[in-house]
Amino acid sequence: MTKAIRIHAHGGPEVLQWEDVPTPEPGPGEALLRHAAIGLNYIDIYFRAGLYKLPSLPATLGMEAAGTVLAIGPGVTGLAPGDRVAYATGPVGAYATERVIAADRLVKLPDAIDFTTAAAMMLQGMTVQYLLRRTHRVQPGETILVHAAAGGIGLILCQWAKHLGATVIGVVSTEAKAELARAHGATHTLIGLANLPAEVKRLTGGAMVPVVYDSVGKDSFTASLDCLAPLGLMVSYGNASGPVPPIDISLLAAKGSLFLTRPSLATYTAKRTDLLQTAEELFAVVQSGAVSIRVNQSYPLAETAAAQRAMEARQTTGSTVLLP
Ligand code: NDP
Repeated sequence: MTKAIRIHAHGGPEVLQWEDVPTPEPGPGEALLRHAAIGLNYIDIYFRAGLYKLPSLPATLGMEAAGTVLAIGPGVTGLAPGDRVAYATGPVGAYATERVIAADRLVKLPDAIDFTTAAAMMLQGMTVQYLLRRTHRVQPGETILVHAAAGGIGLILCQWAKHLGATVIGVVSTEAKAELARAHGATHTLIGLANLPAEVKRLTGGAMVPVVYDSVGKDSFTASLDCLAPLGLMVSYGNASGPVPPIDISLLAAKGSLFLTRPSLATYTAKRTDLLQTAEELFAVVQSGAVSIRVNQSYPLAETAAAQRAMEARQTTGSTVLLP
């Protein structure tokens, strides 16, 4: 048997149950892993609440973990029991001491990256890689606007963007978070959404920004559009405050021939070559010291409900791991 956090129905954190489930056998193309550390991500809350659809219930939640290969199924090549690996692209099932997953979703870990760091950074760090290097290729000298700048994605994004030579304006909810974002590469910080476009205008000398990275969604969407320079790119990549309602696309013309994208890590890492290259770039910036991974909270896996409550209540900063 293995231990897992499962849900039988969508709802609040109280639906997360600590249960015994049979240890699965790896089928063709699959590997059985023993998790050493599991990453907590905001997407886990969307799946729990029902905003994102699960294939069936009951379900073990969780998208990201690091650990050791215990066994491989028929046809798996390039992977052996004992290998240190991590993953971040689902399907759900990471909130467990052991799990089976398609071997082609696994990335081998460099010796210098420990399991806790890996579980804290794979999903958030690979997301930052595609946001800064592919969705919009951030250039030295650019000023960019980043929401939730002290969060898991936020602290990685601020450091990586600074490393690329960009100036980051970070939006956060408290002065303590503002200080943390500045300590991790944000040049300017703004607290709350009030007067956001006017503040961005002031900080950019009227130029506004070429790109906004917005993970807050409903509450910030319109203000974010108003912070863009003509032909700017709105990257709406999350819904921490709720999903963005449908919009009238003529707004994009009225606000300056803007571009809008709603990207997801799953698309950007669907091909194995993209997954490996994304992970490799992440490992490189972490190993060089340009980006450090802040594991600011850790919880026993059995206490995942408390971890999710803290994340939803905006009490977490940086990354959070769950320990089996
Ligand atoms: P965070 O650690 O950033 O936590 C979410 C943060 O959002 C909070 O700390 C809070 O920061 C901010 N926030 C703003 N409004 C609210 C609200 N009403 N309720 C709760 N939080 C709010 O989480 P992650 O780093 O795990 O994820 C960040 C975002 O990125 C999420 O929206 C997630 O869905 C998205 N994401 C998208 C991916 C993609 O590929 N599209 C992949 C991975 C993550 P503050 O208090 O400073 O406002």
